[in-house]
Amino acid sequence: MPLWIKSPLAILASSAENGLVIEADKIIELVAAGAEPANQVDQIFDASAHVVLPGLINTHHHFYQTLTRAHPKAINKKLFSWLQTLYPIWAGLEPEGFRLAVRVALAELLLSGCTTASDHHYVYPENLTDGVDIEVVEAEALGMRVHLTRGSMNLSAEDGGLPPKSVVQDKDTILADSERVIGRFHDPADGAMVRIALAPCSPFSVTPDIMVETAALAETLDVRLHTHLSETEDENEFCQEMFGCRPVDYLEQQGWLTDRTWLAHGIHFNDDEIARLGTAGTGIVHCPSSNYLLASGRCPAPALEAAGAPVGLAVDGSASQDCSNLIQEVRQAMYLQRLYEGADAITHFDAFRWATEGSARCLGRTDIGTLRVGAQADLAMFSLDELRFSGEGDPLAALVLCGAHRADRVMVAGNWVVESGIIPGLDIAALRKAHHAAAMTLQGLA
Ligand code: ZN
Repeated sequence: MPLWIKSPLAILASSAENGLVIEADKIIELVAAGAEPANQVDQIFDASAHVVLPGLINTHHHFYQTLTRAHPKAINKKLFSWLQTLYPIWAGLEPEGFRLAVRVALAELLLSGCTTASDHHYVYPENLTDGVDIEVVEAEALGMRVHLTRGSMNLSAEDGGLPPKSVVQDKDTILADSERVIGRFHDPADGAMVRIALAPCSPFSVTPDIMVETAALAETLDVRLHTHLSETEDENEFCQEMFGCRPVDYLEQQGWLTDRTWLAHGIHFNDDEIARLGTAGTGIVHCPSSNYLLASGRCPAPALEAAGAPVGLAVDGSASQDCSNLIQEVRQAMYLQRLYEGADAITHFDAFRWATEGSARCLGRTDIGTLRVGAQADLAMFSLDELRFSGEGDPLAALVLCGAHRADRVMVAGNWVVESGIIPGLDIAALRKAHHAAAMTLQGLA
């Protein structure tokens, strides 16, 4: 049943001014200005009120952190003390609260035009050891494409790391469960809805042998690698003291400086490190709101791209930026980069590229992130009917400049998952009530 998304107000694709045709889960035709589809179409969606983007791709998040948004004892702190305040609270995570946290994060992302989300889940307290399993169920229920990373922490404060003993696991448990979730859920096929990657949390929360053995396992099972890197100057100092080198050197020593890896944040690189990351093809995820909030600095996204590194975009954990809205993050990215590069050096097309093609490259995918024939039918469609858009002269630029915050329609793999700004079948009010109650209990504020 081919569907013609007809005559969009604007579309982020070339030679598709008159829309595109979708059959099953794929785009089968782009329709140029003034043309009609060459394919027989059975259904038509009039998109004349919509700006059409490739579905946005979020490459770094911590879904569970929606339970600790704006926690009063954590706000107004730098990264390390912010983390040390929250670790003991996260140690109290339980399955039902976690399930609600995942559902909230996914729903928020979908409503902002995100069609593929990666989650970095690294907290495995004793009564929540199957976090990835829960995430798969929730993503399938909402029809969202996910790249779930099996995170890990094994370096507790007792051994010179940052997290307390209550949230770390031993190496054998981590590696065995990594293998289990890959075997159970990872789909390497084109159009996959669920992929698994391996993701030790950061240099300051895992031992070198976890880094090395995780990289070896990823190579054997052909999955991707992810971690936080070069987010703060404190991390540089920690690496210098603990390992006698800078974070990128440490990454290289552990066998991680490859195109199998994508890194969250990537702020404090020197020119030599940028060149090495580019040569290796290691992906970097720009998380502008999180970096603003924690005053971490700025990811040198243009220089990394120029060096050859894929650059993607992400909202980061909900506790570190308190919001999982990816189209708003596109705006933040453009503004933050302009501050450093100049108003004429960064455009809305750069920010869109990071959130789509660049993010897809970070996740190692060629079947999403662009609107082209043969790609997955993942679409984010925005209507410009709010007061904030009135008077706009360029619909694509207006999404960023006027501050779009909510998609009107979203399609994943050919299925509508958001219609008229609503996720069919999801009772948002009931979800909000249950999630907020679980959050207050976890934070000790009930
Ligand atoms: Zn993070």
